Amino acid sequence: MHRAETCHVRPWTAPQQRRPSLSIVYKGDLERGREWERFFAVHAPELQFRLWPDFGRAEEVSYFVTWQPPDDVSAVFPNLQVLFSSGAGVDQFDLNRVPSHVRIVRMIEPGIIDGMVEYATLATLLHHRNFIDYAERQRRREWSGMRVLPASSRHVGVMGLGMLGCAVLERLRTFGFALSGWNRSPRAIEGVACFAGEERFAEFLGGCDILLCLLPLTEKTRGILCGETFARLKRGAALVNIGRGGHLVEADLLEALASGQLSAAVLDVAATEPLPADHPFWGHPRIVVTPHVASMTQPRTAAKALLANIRRHQAGEPLVGTVDRSRGY
Ligand code: NAP
Repeated sequence: MHRAETCHVRPWTAPQQRRPSLSIVYKGDLERGREWERFFAVHAPELQFRLWPDFGRAEEVSYFVTWQPPDDVSAVFPNLQVLFSSGAGVDQFDLNRVPSHVRIVRMIEPGIIDGMVEYATLATLLHHRNFIDYAERQRRREWSGMRVLPASSRHVGVMGLGMLGCAVLERLRTFGFALSGWNRSPRAIEGVACFAGEERFAEFLGGCDILLCLLPLTEKTRGILCGETFARLKRGAALVNIGRGGHLVEADLLEALASGQLSAAVLDVAATEPLPADHPFWGHPRIVVTPHVASMTQPRTAAKALLANIRRHQAGEPLVGTVDRSRGY
């Protein structure tokens, strides 16, 4: 039999794949990017997931995920629809440089919340159980204890009752602390005395032994952790700043520690990051510094959250974490 007789049917070829017209570009930590790339390849093969700077055709890019976008993001991606922050905040973005039709969305995912709850609990307990005093006593080889106060006798105040502030309060409640919260708009949280607005700020501060800042950094909240604020806390109160470095007036903290108005501070964020080598916070015996690690976007849970948001966008539904440009968060 001639070979030609058996081959009269054209071999089957796969139908031409339609080139996907939507792509997602990720700019940031390469290890996380590769993990997200694999996740999208499995769970959303119809979308092209690309890693900066190999983003292919710029006009096909609809979604951009990053911590630090290029200055003129719309010039780079002319058809951008959503700019996603890879972290919980957007204060690192210059919102004025993002065209008004581009939605700005921050990262809301369980990994960030869990990390922050752990850190805030640790820092609160560190103050409550006098660990900064004991670190000093250890350096002096001094074996002497302080009275252990019940958690119910400590008043803990949380500034910012958003996704993170509420989760932190929920955990702190399990220890039995007396709790207060302060927020822009009114909130009702079981077991927490809630205060809203600038007019009730002083009242909120008045009872606090330990103050936690979980606010977003905006023009209204910049410098809010200042001498005037510290003066309203109970004498010897302690601070935990897990918001942003711009919330704190650093010189005022040093002054409040020197005067004894504040007894100690745990700072995860700083006005200049990394904290300069000659900064007085490094060697201060009453300050614990960590390098902006209170919580981090977790690749696996964040990839799921990102894809769920992209699916919402494609279905014309509201996106979780949409930023209100007029408020700045
Ligand atoms: P969120 O859900 O947007 O909550 C922010 C809360 O702050 C809202 O409840 C808001 O009030 C309140 N607020 C805003 N401006 C205010 C003002 N002027 N006065 C009083 N309350 C005000 O944000 P989130 O997810 O909880 O995150 C909070 C912040 O934590 C982030 O913006 C970031 O700065 C910080 N953070 C730090 C780390 C870290 O590793 N150190 C990690 C993640 C996040 P309304 O309810 O009225 O809007």
